[in-house]
Amino acid sequence: MTASEFAARRSALQQRMAAEKLDAFVVGVGPNVRYLTGFTGSNGVMVMLSGGAVFFTDPRYQIQAAQEVDCPVRVASGPLLLQVAALLRRVKSKRVGFEKSRMTVEAHQTLKDALPMRSSLEPTGGWIERQRMVKSDREIDAIRRSVELNSRAFEQVAGRVRPGMRESELAAELDYRVRRLGAEGPAFETIVAAGARTALPHARPTAAKLPARGFVLVDMGAMLEGYASDMTRMLFLGRPDTRAKLAYAAALEAQLAAIDAVRAGVEAQAVDRAARRVLAHHGFERAFVHSTGHGLGLEIHEPPRIGKKEKTALEKGMAVTIEPGVYLEGFGGVRIEDTVMVTATGCDVLTPTLKELRMV
Ligand code: ZN
Ligand code: ZN
Repeated sequence: MTASEFAARRSALQQRMAAEKLDAFVVGVGPNVRYLTGFTGSNGVMVMLSGGAVFFTDPRYQIQAAQEVDCPVRVASGPLLLQVAALLRRVKSKRVGFEKSRMTVEAHQTLKDALPMRSSLEPTGGWIERQRMVKSDREIDAIRRSVELNSRAFEQVAGRVRPGMRESELAAELDYRVRRLGAEGPAFETIVAAGARTALPHARPTAAKLPARGFVLVDMGAMLEGYASDMTRMLFLGRPDTRAKLAYAAALEAQLAAIDAVRAGVEAQAVDRAARRVLAHHGFERAFVHSTGHGLGLEIHEPPRIGKKEKTALEKGMAVTIEPGVYLEGFGGVRIEDTVMVTATGCDVLTPTLKELRMV
């Protein structure tokens, strides 16, 4: 990202602050700090004032902050929030915004104790997440490359899956490939499940060996230049029986119907409904136990959620996953997941990996 992109993001935050009559805003380290400043370290606080931003970090990050952050940097020893409070006292801030879903109770208490009585701490929710939903061209490019790298890693491993291999071995192999191809690492803990365990939507890989016959579910993502990708594909060991084929066909049809429903201006719930309608038609309505998808970017799960009753209107430049599934206890499950980019007239499916059920 360029310096001007960070500056534009910060000025959008300042506008929101002005509208809500805040004269300061405190953002603790995490994806929102990265989004606003470029800082990738693990300890830092950005304070936005009406006159501009100040970034606080500790001496371990002095060199890194100078390279990454394009607003004034203060290197402080000791608790950063005490330095933040000193600045807020100096500029006589009265209404100080903070992120209620990100600041700990302990941090809130520290800040409150260090501020004068006339200052108030004002909880806010989702301001920066809302800004982050619509991606810039540079972010779209980063997500696209993350998706492509992730698919390459999958291809390098998929052909070598065999009965007897352990779930954990397959997951480790995928993680290794993701890193070898240049990613920072997996975007989340890789999911590998085989046989009846594929009915667990968020199965953790175990030491169980892949069976001679049955589904293998792989849900994986890469983190590349800070941006996540997310994909689920199914493999089948041996020959699938009728029930397995029906479940797969229904999940695929639902996924394609949901992709077809994606377009700027459409509410997220309409996309979710498109998937659910197809699954209901095949009698699998109750076998689909999660939402159809989620936004992704600096985090693997971020707004908008593509779920029931989700009224957020999709906008051009949003990156979301489309991942309906069918989960049948004692039998197994199917999920097919792509990362797509919303456009004015539909969406770009970024994931290049084929969606036919792959038999190995
Ligand atoms: Zn996934
Ligand atoms: Zn996902």
